[in-house]
Amino acid sequence: MQDHDALINLIPEYAAGVLDAGQRRRVEEHLAGCAGCREELSFWMDTAAAVGAEDTALPAPPFPDRLVLSKTGSPGALILSVLRHAWLILSSQIFMVQKDIWPASATVLMVGYFFALASGEAGALRFLAPLVAAACITVIYAPDFDPVMELSLSTSTSPWQILLARLVLVFVYNLALGLAASLALLPFMPQLILSELIIGWLCPMAFLTALALLLSLPLGSYNAIGITYALWISQYLIKGSASGSVLLPAPFSQIASFLQVYQAFWNNTLFLSLFSLVFVLAALYLSLIKRERFLHPA
Ligand SMILES: [Zn+2]
Repeated sequence: MQDHDALINLIPEYAAGVLDAGQRRRVEEHLAGCAGCREELSFWMDTAAAVGAEDTALPAPPFPDRLVLSKTGSPGALILSVLRHAWLILSSQIFMVQKDIWPASATVLMVGYFFALASGEAGALRFLAPLVAAACITVIYAPDFDPVMELSLSTSTSPWQILLARLVLVFVYNLALGLAASLALLPFMPQLILSELIIGWLCPMAFLTALALLLSLPLGSYNAIGITYALWISQYLIKGSASGSVLLPAPFSQIASFLQVYQAFWNNTLFLSLFSLVFVLAALYLSLIKRERFLHPA
């Protein structure tokens, strides 16, 4: 039984063929007597086959230089080929993302929705939506959470495409949840302005998600969650002092003005959007470095 708990975690790597000989023998001996693990293995073999099939179905990544060189490519065919490529990667990544995040973020946002309803203001939604999205994003490409990292890294699909596909899937999902919750608040709170409500959580969500993704690549999921949560929550903790409702002694007045700037940052849609873009680009670049290190360890 103990063996089962230890070995079932090795099965993705067994399916990817990256275990050493000793571990492989242990897994094989255990597989012979454990139906549960054989089932797990067949799931990962299917996954590996799907990844491999997707990989071979994509003869050439549609990079601009290839597109220019391609002789047969009419603009329409070109766009179709890019779309097909993007769709194949997206659909293959749906099953690669941690399954738990789908129900987990729906549950948390539901709590935020009912809390907003009960309190009569949308603050809970603005507070929770960025936190949920950031937490989801830290597990999509961090080694401590991705059992198929080896599978992904050993295919020829570029890691930045895999990372971007997962980012899009998870972000769009959380975006849809946030939109649904916002729309569902309207009938009960007619004083709300929908566009203000949405921008209120959307921009911080994009920023926090992008930052969490970038941090999770070198630091792992837990550190990325810790840092982004501290940044986000601290603006609420200091709200009292910055608004002057808590009286600060003279030496702290400079801190108070810093806090005001800090809070203003979280409401600046332009800055938040620009930083999000920079963080995502940096994360994509880091994913390339990560694959280099995986393929050619020092
Ligand atoms: Zn077992």
